[in-house]
Amino acid sequence: MISLLNIVYMINNIEKIFYKIKESVLRRNPPVFRKDEILDNDFKKFVAIFLSPRVKDSKLIFVCKRLFERVNSFKDIIKMNLDELEEILKPLGLYKVKAKRLKSVAYKIVNEYGGKIPNDLNELLKLEGVGRKIAKIILAELYNKPYVAVDTHVHRISNRIGIVKTKSISETEKILEKILPEKIKLEYNKVMVGFGQTICLPKNPKCRECPIKKYCKNGKGKNN
Ligand code: SF4
Repeated sequence: MISLLNIVYMINNIEKIFYKIKESVLRRNPPVFRKDEILDNDFKKFVAIFLSPRVKDSKLIFVCKRLFERVNSFKDIIKMNLDELEEILKPLGLYKVKAKRLKSVAYKIVNEYGGKIPNDLNELLKLEGVGRKIAKIILAELYNKPYVAVDTHVHRISNRIGIVKTKSISETEKILEKILPEKIKLEYNKVMVGFGQTICLPKNPKCRECPIKKYCKNGKGKNN
């Protein structure tokens, strides 16, 4: 059980804790970081983030590699035959919806935003298929805007390590936006997803290898 005192302690030490996690995660090069190797421009980053919900990073990397052999701009997406796009996106699941939405977003970015990906939260939310989490990751990763993107994994890990004690994603998001230093906000989503992929696994977290085990109340007594 995490006490209020423990939460306060964790918040006061958040920078130290975060950078210990980050260092450990980078050494393990999890899929969430590996995908950066194929995302060498903002178009590719946007497309990968847009397609990422409910998709494993390893599968996303596979699909993006195939897609980027065929397209390198939103104009290319508009020109691409829908059947071909669906075929490439098929391994992702919901591929018909994703293909249709990607074409719609490409059309809008080219025709309403002059080909430039919007750098404003409200404008991004106007794009079909872009929700708050996606919009915030885009703003953080493409424009260095200090937003915290919270999904089920970030919500789960933030509660597990004891930075927050919340029941919903939206509650976690509100608190993290308040307590995290700006430089940490930019990387928080990615580092925590990587932490969840390598050490603080959903089931059987590897507490023995954990760089923050001495801070984490939930890790006490675990020998995995
Ligand atoms: S000690 Fe265990 S539960 Fe706590 S953050 Fe580390 S891996 Fe996760």
